[in-house]
Amino acid sequence: MQTSSHKKKLVIGNWKMNGSSVANASLLRSLLPVISRFESVETAICPPFPYLTTVADLLDDSDVSLGAQNLSTHLSGAHTGEVSASMLQDIGCRYVLVGHSERRALYAEDDELVAKKFATALRAGLIPVLCVGETLAQRQGGETEAVVTQQLSAVLKAVGIQDLVKSVIAYEPVWAIGTGETATPEQAQAVHRHIREWLAEQDRPAATDCRILYGGSVKAENAKQLFDQPDIDGGLIGGASLDAMSFAAICWAAQTAPAAEPIAI
Ligand code: PEP
Repeated sequence: MQTSSHKKKLVIGNWKMNGSSVANASLLRSLLPVISRFESVETAICPPFPYLTTVADLLDDSDVSLGAQNLSTHLSGAHTGEVSASMLQDIGCRYVLVGHSERRALYAEDDELVAKKFATALRAGLIPVLCVGETLAQRQGGETEAVVTQQLSAVLKAVGIQDLVKSVIAYEPVWAIGTGETATPEQAQAVHRHIREWLAEQDRPAATDCRILYGGSVKAENAKQLFDQPDIDGGLIGGASLDAMSFAAICWAAQTAPAAEPIAI
């Protein structure tokens, strides 16, 4: 019988298309002294592209990692407006979001493109944060597990299980993103469990080590109950990451949540 090993929880702030030089510096000035005291949680910030280097400088003396929100599948050359994985790696990014539901819905990113971005990120030494999740109609139609499995399978087909589990997976129900509506801890845990069992069907030991984050209107008020769930290894935070004290409170909830209990798969 396989068991989950200990993992530090991971909390990633996705600033989306928000911020300015002044606002970013002010946010980080308030945030960093607080979260740098939280040693049992790993944290990362994903600012918009133009601010990556200045945020990298501001994060320099901290343990907070830098992430990007998107990348090109192309390596270099005539792709005006695109940003390559090697550029992100070059300026110090550790993570990159892949398959965020806003990109799937608003920029027509399908499973095949998401899988390509995932593979491109990994090849450049970045850690992809693969976002998966169902719409409200799909949930109401009882399709949640099938949708999530299909999104994961597309990446599995492209890179194989050993590379898939090198990533971070973020379960983000589309109906909960930016809506103020959060999945209940039980709803989130059920899908996280499904993902972990699906990973275990491919490779049991790898499944236990893969971090699966929850995202969707996580706030200071609901973070602790979510992070207390045995298969929730942290959070991907949108709106609440723009407020230093809210994000710090969410990181604190992760810091004080129990480490993943060894549980049977
Ligand atoms: C997100 O952008 O990934 C997200 C989860 O946003 P929010 O926390 O605002 O729902």
